[in-house]
Amino acid sequence: MSDPILDPVLDYIDATLDTSTDRLMDLLRIKSISTDPAYADECDKAADWLVADLASIGFEASKRDTPGHPMVMAHAPDGTGTHVMFYGHYDVQPVDPLELWDRDPFDPKVEDTPKGKVLRGRGTSDDKGQLMTFVEACRAWKAVHGTLPGNVSIFFEGEEESGSPSLVPFMKDNALELTADVALICDTGLYGDSTPAIITQLRGLLGEEVTITGADKDLHSGMYGGIAMNPARVLAKIIASLHDDTGAITVPGFYDGVPELSNELAASWDDLKFDHEHFLGEVGLSKPAGEQGRRPLDMIWSRPTCEVNGMISGYTGDGFKTVLPSKASAKISFRLVGTQDPLVIRAAFREMVSAMVPSDCTVEFSDHGASQAGQMTTTHPAFAQAKKALSNEWPNAAAYVGCGGSIPIAGHFKHILDMDAMLIGFGKDDDQIHSPNEKYDLSSFHKGIRSWARILHELAE
Ligand SMILES: [Zn+2]
Repeated sequence: MSDPILDPVLDYIDATLDTSTDRLMDLLRIKSISTDPAYADECDKAADWLVADLASIGFEASKRDTPGHPMVMAHAPDGTGTHVMFYGHYDVQPVDPLELWDRDPFDPKVEDTPKGKVLRGRGTSDDKGQLMTFVEACRAWKAVHGTLPGNVSIFFEGEEESGSPSLVPFMKDNALELTADVALICDTGLYGDSTPAIITQLRGLLGEEVTITGADKDLHSGMYGGIAMNPARVLAKIIASLHDDTGAITVPGFYDGVPELSNELAASWDDLKFDHEHFLGEVGLSKPAGEQGRRPLDMIWSRPTCEVNGMISGYTGDGFKTVLPSKASAKISFRLVGTQDPLVIRAAFREMVSAMVPSDCTVEFSDHGASQAGQMTTTHPAFAQAKKALSNEWPNAAAYVGCGGSIPIAGHFKHILDMDAMLIGFGKDDDQIHSPNEKYDLSSFHKGIRSWARILHELAE
């Protein structure tokens, strides 16, 4: 199906891929490691680079100072139609261990590999290569049609890899400027190698640490074993009680706000043909261990969890020591879905645990964060338009998918600005983000640019 408006933009993208790649290389050479104060100037430089680049294609772009690294904001002048707010981050992870890299992480290169050409270097996939897919799509529109495509704003952060300390205050202080019809977030991947994905739900996270204390010192089990209460035994009983025999979580009220999937979404997830045997087989496992009667994909995308992340008690060194520990502690996390309220669950969990602590023992809790799940309402027409546009670009039709992890920015758009977000990215599972030899397939970059060009075209219709 030929389209006199879109086709020349796609042709332009194909014809100028080399210069687009060179431009990305310039950005990749800036060592914008956000977590290490030694690279603060480099973060600043990356923000300046982006402001200048966005201004060069007609955006009203500015660098905004924060107590940490600067934000970049840009708006298309006189845009009409659906207003989109595109988010990406220009900071990158540290590069150590440096000796495991095959080349200088900040001297990026296009490499030939058996699976095709890849861009190699820190930030290629996470997230400079991804954010530039959007910028290059805008550039192509501007070059071909003389204007940016529709009502487009851009928001780049420089602290994503270091916990985003300035993000929430900045979003609250600039709520009006950041509010649009829908947010676009490009920091995720494809489903498999050729199915574009729009993430429409992400799980929230609640972190708790429980410490049980018994005697005021470690005891000899020959002398005190039997008469003294052992905190490790108390903790083990608590942990064992968190799930019932069907794998359901027993914290009172835990399932309040957990929605069932719509039939439509359940059917589309079935179409993805998730291969749980392969997924578990890759890590030496075979049996889904979540709630009985739930589909394996639901266990990682749409169902809440309770997991023990660490347990510490007594003597764990070499050999053997007949100690009766004074303390036992565990780190426990909950992945949350729907409208589950992390603070209500925290209170119920603490009450349940406290009730199981015998006399002669005490319990202390510490808080390791709480974030709600992000559940997008896909009824905004932008969702269907993006899905159609992506399906036209890729071999397989685009899918609405879940994400078992937590991507805080999506929740912030939802909870601070009351905006739905579409998480669309072109990374692959083998991109080695955060690791040595990070790469981004040249095809991800190229088709990513084309994908955004198509999406912007649909949204501007
Ligand atoms: Zn990222």
